[in-house]
Amino acid sequence: MVKKILTSGLGKPTPLEESAILKEVDNSVDWSSASVFVLGGVRKGADGKLWFQIKKVNHVDGDLGKELRKYIGKYSGFRFKFFRSTRNAYDKECQIYHEFKPSKNIKHPTRPRNTKFLCSVADCSESD
Ligand SMILES: [Zn+2]
Repeated sequence: MVKKILTSGLGKPTPLEESAILKEVDNSVDWSSASVFVLGGVRKGADGKLWFQIKKVNHVDGDLGKELRKYIGKYSGFRFKFFRSTRNAYDKECQIYHEFKPSKNIKHPTRPRNTKFLCSVADCSESD
């Protein structure tokens, strides 16, 4: 059986701590007000390989660093990516939500404020 390899398409796993947020997020040359992040932790699989377990996915319209700081101490790591448009960020958030079903996401991602975006994942019946 060929196992489907899921990738989040986000940046590298980063420790969820002040210094890392400051360096990787706040001072990023790529900074944008549209972003997607996942929270979770690095786990060792049965095969001994390390992998990043996604527990929550969210998008941010605004200050990603400020949002991430709310979760310090609650999760050990994060991955993120900046997007040039809110539309692309929302698409990525939905895609991760459907692929990984993060345990802390109790409902479908909500569309960004002041938009009428619909979930772009085929067969999605949860998007409003
Ligand atoms: Zn959806």
